[in-house]
Amino acid sequence: MITVKNEMADIKKSDILVEHPRLIQDAMRLRELGGVFIAGGTLIQLNWEFGQPLSTTLINLEPITELKGVEYIERGDSSFVEIGALTTISECIENPIINEHAQLLVEACKKIAAPAVRNRATLGGNIASGIGDSIPALLVLDAELTIRIQDETKVIKLWGLLSLLKDTPQLNYLLLLIRIPCQKKGEQAFFKKVGRREAFTPALVTICAQWRRISAKRLEYIGIAVGGGNNDPCRLIVVEKILETNDFDENLLRSLYLEIVDEINSYSDPFITETYRKHVAANLLVAELMNIFCDKEG
Ligand SMILES: Cc1cc2nc3c(=O)[nH]c(=O)nc-3n(C[C@H](O)[C@H](O)[C@H](O)COP(=O)(O)OP(=O)(O)OC[C@H]3O[C@@H](n4cnc5c(N)ncnc54)[C@H](O)[C@@H]3O)c2cc1C
Repeated sequence: MITVKNEMADIKKSDILVEHPRLIQDAMRLRELGGVFIAGGTLIQLNWEFGQPLSTTLINLEPITELKGVEYIERGDSSFVEIGALTTISECIENPIINEHAQLLVEACKKIAAPAVRNRATLGGNIASGIGDSIPALLVLDAELTIRIQDETKVIKLWGLLSLLKDTPQLNYLLLLIRIPCQKKGEQAFFKKVGRREAFTPALVTICAQWRRISAKRLEYIGIAVGGGNNDPCRLIVVEKILETNDFDENLLRSLYLEIVDEINSYSDPFITETYRKHVAANLLVAELMNIFCDKEG
């Protein structure tokens, strides 16, 4: 019988049992019994060091080989990149298919931790953390996830899973696959992560966008997302709509600034207030919008 201890102080390393299932259904069965999935273990280790309670049973996902690999898929007029949840952040940076068709994800992965961590950390673990830096990029890329809940396999949009987890944070699910529609011709993107200082600290805010321009003053399409630190990653739907339906000028920029501040859902911690975080994000985004519209060839 698996027991979950609440006091971290109670747990010795020798109390921890690591299971190595090879099949998804075995991993799910162990999860139902109270075990915790571990992929790269980089976040779990960090949280444990900060005193977060740990299950006495860890379910090592590594042996489930079907959760690894990257594929290019064509279906009718659409094409996708499919990434197994156990693909490491380093592999995402190096993989030629991801580089060709989902460059924004590559940019996001380059900003996650340091190489040693990226070699172990997985994309699935980054998403399942709920706050990973890949999430804003994947929201903009309209990523779809294949997940296992009990004995059912479901396909759900990333934003759908994030809102489901808000209502049911203890949901027992296994992330299997991330599917990203391939970047279309003419689409451009940026990814910016801001910290409190150069040395390693969690992001103050992460902001990214992907867009297509139809004229010097008008975008045909833009997706914008904000996340980083403990911010709830989200798309700025209202700001996107304003940009798609109005010609760009200085007045629009001014009203956009206020709209951005309004739409972001942030938080305060002992170092930085919610208001400051929102204004950092708005300043960053406005500066990037200026770049987009001043680069007439873009
Ligand atoms: C020094 C350091 C710096 C870091 N810097 C960054 C950073 O800059 N940006 C950033 O985003 N993160 C950062 N992290 C956090 C972490 O490394 C990443 O989020 C990483 O991608 C997590 O992946 P993992 O495979 O190690 O997850 P794990 O630690 O194995 O798991 C993380 C969580 O996801 C769950 N999980 C894992 N895989 C699955 C799955 N397939 N299905 C369902 N649940 C799953 C686990 O149960 C756990 O709750 C840092 C960590 C360290 C130690």
